[in-house]
Amino acid sequence: MRVLFLFLDGVGLGPSDAESNPFARTALPNLERLLGGRRLTFEAAGVETAISCLLALDAGLGVDGLPQSATGQATLLTGKNIPRLVGEHFGPKPNARVRQALQAGNLFSWLRGRGRTAALLNAYPEAYFRHLNSGRRLPGAVAMAARLAGLELMTAEDLFAGRALSADFTGKGWRERLGYAQTPLFSFDQAGRQLAALAQRYDFSLFEFWISDVLGHRQDMDEAVAWLRRLDQVLGGLLAAWNVERDVILITSDHGNLEDLSSRRHTANPVPALIVGPPGARALAGQRLRSLQDVAPLILDWVENG
Ligand SMILES: [Zn+2]
Repeated sequence: MRVLFLFLDGVGLGPSDAESNPFARTALPNLERLLGGRRLTFEAAGVETAISCLLALDAGLGVDGLPQSATGQATLLTGKNIPRLVGEHFGPKPNARVRQALQAGNLFSWLRGRGRTAALLNAYPEAYFRHLNSGRRLPGAVAMAARLAGLELMTAEDLFAGRALSADFTGKGWRERLGYAQTPLFSFDQAGRQLAALAQRYDFSLFEFWISDVLGHRQDMDEAVAWLRRLDQVLGGLLAAWNVERDVILITSDHGNLEDLSSRRHTANPVPALIVGPPGARALAGQRLRSLQDVAPLILDWVENG
């Protein structure tokens, strides 16, 4: 069984309040199809359909304060309670102790060590590597974990050759903001299909969508709703091209944020874990997934025993 981890930064499960929660405000048909007609709010937790289930995961992990990206993502990737290990929720970028925990082993390195193929499907522009190399920029926990596992981050060349996807899915940002005029353009639906095709090349793959967290910090409801509709089209393309009887898609997050635009800060809400795939994989998720800490061991089990 192949596993695609679609990681959405800063997406929690909030109340059905259309004033503050963009997930409650707009219809998202592809997402709702996986939620038995419900919207992605608290009330949908526990919902099952013939191909999917939604669970609510604790992101607080028994540590005071609001969850942050570096410790949350490192927990998702290691199965260890990183905020407790580090002594606090920390982010957005990993500090030395988070790095140390990722270096000791993470999903990418464990799977590679067992002879499995793994990939981070995001493409990174040349400026990103330049800033990393000059020390002006730190990688996020996801990219750091991949690098520590010996994976090369995908580049512009990989994007142009159809081996990776851009963070905005369509490539528009690469053309218009980064100046890569030759970037292939996808519709959101096509990008979802491309994501499914790329995931078929590996036992485990991860795509990181970080714009969701940025939208949460910006508190712009119209922009948030517009992006959710785009994301829903990506999901439509992904599902159309996915073999749900054989392979698993896991969509989850590191902490809440976007689901409450009344605050620019992260939230203490649980995060959604939406699983699409065969009944056995979903049953295992239902038994095992309670917090961010349970994600990595479950993915290992899916890949190894699925
Ligand atoms: Zn944030």
